[in-house]
Amino acid sequence: MLIKRNLSRFLLILIVGIFVLFQIIDILLPALFHSINIMSYITLFVSFAAVGFLIYIFKEFDKKAEEITRNQQKMKNIFDTLDVAIWSHDLKTDTLLITPGIEKLYGYKLENFYEDTNLWKEVIYPEDLYVLEDRAKKLAIGETVTSQYRIIRPDGEVRWIQDRGIPTYDQKGDFVDFNSVLFDITDRKESEGLYQSLVEMSPDIIAVVYDGKIEYINEAGYKLIGAESLEQVIGQSAKNFVPSQITNLIKNKVFSSDKMENERYRFEFQVKRIDGESIDVEMAARSILYEGRFAVQVVGRDITQRKKSEQTIKFMAYYDALTGLPNRNQFRNHLNKVLHQQLNKMHAVMFLDLDRFKIINDTKGHSVGDIILRKVAGRLEKAVQNEGLVSRQGGDEFIIILEDVDKENASQVAKRILYEFSNPFEVNNEEFYVTPSIGISIYPTDGSDEETLIKNADTAMYQAKDCGKNNYQFYSIISGGISTWKMKLENWLRRAMEHNQMTLHYQPQLDLGTGKIVGVEALIRWNHPEYGYIAPSEFIPLAEETGLIIPLGKWILREACERRKAWKDAGFSDFPIAVNISVRQFQDEHIIQFISGMLEEVGLEANYLELEINESLMQNLENSTIILNQLKSLGVLLTVDDFGTGYSSLSYLKHLPIDKIKIDKSFVDDIIYHSNQGMMVKTIIDMGMNLKFTVIAEGIETEEQVKFLTRNACQIGQGYYYSKPLTAEKLEEFLVKGNNPMV
Ligand code: C2E
Ligand code: MG
Ligand code: MG
Repeated sequence: MLIKRNLSRFLLILIVGIFVLFQIIDILLPALFHSINIMSYITLFVSFAAVGFLIYIFKEFDKKAEEITRNQQKMKNIFDTLDVAIWSHDLKTDTLLITPGIEKLYGYKLENFYEDTNLWKEVIYPEDLYVLEDRAKKLAIGETVTSQYRIIRPDGEVRWIQDRGIPTYDQKGDFVDFNSVLFDITDRKESEGLYQSLVEMSPDIIAVVYDGKIEYINEAGYKLIGAESLEQVIGQSAKNFVPSQITNLIKNKVFSSDKMENERYRFEFQVKRIDGESIDVEMAARSILYEGRFAVQVVGRDITQRKKSEQTIKFMAYYDALTGLPNRNQFRNHLNKVLHQQLNKMHAVMFLDLDRFKIINDTKGHSVGDIILRKVAGRLEKAVQNEGLVSRQGGDEFIIILEDVDKENASQVAKRILYEFSNPFEVNNEEFYVTPSIGISIYPTDGSDEETLIKNADTAMYQAKDCGKNNYQFYSIISGGISTWKMKLENWLRRAMEHNQMTLHYQPQLDLGTGKIVGVEALIRWNHPEYGYIAPSEFIPLAEETGLIIPLGKWILREACERRKAWKDAGFSDFPIAVNISVRQFQDEHIIQFISGMLEEVGLEANYLELEINESLMQNLENSTIILNQLKSLGVLLTVDDFGTGYSSLSYLKHLPIDKIKIDKSFVDDIIYHSNQGMMVKTIIDMGMNLKFTVIAEGIETEEQVKFLTRNACQIGQGYYYSKPLTAEKLEEFLVKGNNPMV
């Protein structure tokens, strides 16, 4: 090129030079002969101008040439510093041009590529050779191809190359020129690979949504949706899985014009899986540029478990896990709210306790008890309807608040509850009769705060229990005058003891098989000079409360033992006398000493004395065990009275030195009132006998009961059917008559 250009320049200067020379000669010769004309001068001037112009042009050419060389050097330097190589092959002339950058990319010398034009192929990573096939196919049809493959450098290093091949065909369709631009893309590939594996291995859902369709989703994402493969999800509308209000919200937020750059939005919603199930997810969304378009990228996770635990915690804080009813917390919150918001209205608080529930739990197991409690919850809700809130306080206690009701309404609800309980509860094909005792307090008359209202309803509930259970009582009714009556009674009681107004009556206990008297229970009687007969159930609790039971109890024990000693002396020697002992008496640390001393003074052997203890003694099992063992070591007999109504569990009893259990009258009543309930009596007899206790049934009033009890192997019976409690004299008459008052 340079030679060509210089040659043409030389020829031009030569021609112009010869022309100028001729002109000079042409001018100078006539000048020598003094014949120069004006035309000759003009011609000479033009010639010099032409020479000058040519010199100028040549200089300009030189400048341009220098600039091109400089630029070419610059380009070469750029290519040399870049991780880029250009491979240019003119197929017409078969000239190959490779930029030196190839040395940097491949690690081989530039000459090596000229020497071996297949070198670039030979160093391709074997696993990537397949790329060449595709490349060749496309180039053959004139397409520009971008391929990516790995190469192995002479030092063993593996690099990623991006190769953009551009074929040129002439008009005839002949392949005339081929250019290829090669880049080292190792760094990009590595970071891409790193991100790709991070995204693919992520346990969180990562997806890209474009135009409402899922363009990309990772494995965690499609599995969460319930798909088995990526293909099941790609291209699907996001609305198939996400509620449309959420997709709209995301779209509006992410693409809103006032959004901050890189702002992420968080959403919690339910995803509908392919199998129709719904799961809770938490998601963040932002806009990204994905394959050149603005799309939404979402990252999220399954929070179903977290939501469930949150709900469980919330539920546990406010609901009773067994029945699903509101618990004590929620009830108190609700009651407080009602009291604050409806200050001027009347409300009722009902405290409800199930009668004899404990015995079902103990004899039939907690699983049966739990089923019954659930059914009880259902019946209570049915009875209360939407007039109030039913809550479970724990155990077999429920509290109900009735909003905006008067006493009359409250009575109606209470009656509906009692009615709901009139049918048995059926569990595992067995029927159980459970009844409620209900105490009611009314706002504002019986209390203005939650604490007082509950306390008073509770008191009223105990009153309902005292009134024979399975009924309801209003606090206001029983509270009216109760304390004054109590005070009067207490005074009378103190005086009665001083004035010997108390007597003991005796009720015989019979062997159900032989009909023989096998025991006698001493029961206290109080005939007040003015008031008349006062029942033990009325004054014994008061005596317990005031502590008067200690001296009274001692008197009863001595009186009964003296009576028994007299009968023994009269020849009736084969049965013990049973005396009721209050729990309070056991708190007297001298009780053991007293009994042993008293027996000695009276001269009665310990085995003639039977102590009837209440189930409530079991509440303090540790202390009771010590006392009962001490009593037992004296030689007295021990009986659990009113069995089935209180706290005792047969499993506790077997560790105590108990001789007999006395089935409570209420169970014996069931034999006739609820034929199926005889089953409870039967269960108690069976279990009692298994534990080697003698079983007594009290409160027998009919022959049917006797038959049932005999059939079920109950050993001893007591009740009006045989005899009411009798005076000592009357009982003696029966003893004389041959041990059988029925004769
Ligand atoms: P308890 O020890 O269970 O006594 C049985 C109660 O049932 C007695 O009532 C008795 O008269 C009554 N009874 C017996 N057979 C029948 C029957 O066939 N039908 C009916 N309807 N009732 C029957 P009482 O005498 O009124 O005594 C009630 C409770 O007072 C006793 O229940 C006992 O817990 C307590 N109590 C009685 N006397 C004493 C005593 O001397 N000391 C102590 N600490 N408590 C006593
Ligand atoms: Mg008794
Ligand atoms: Mg009893």
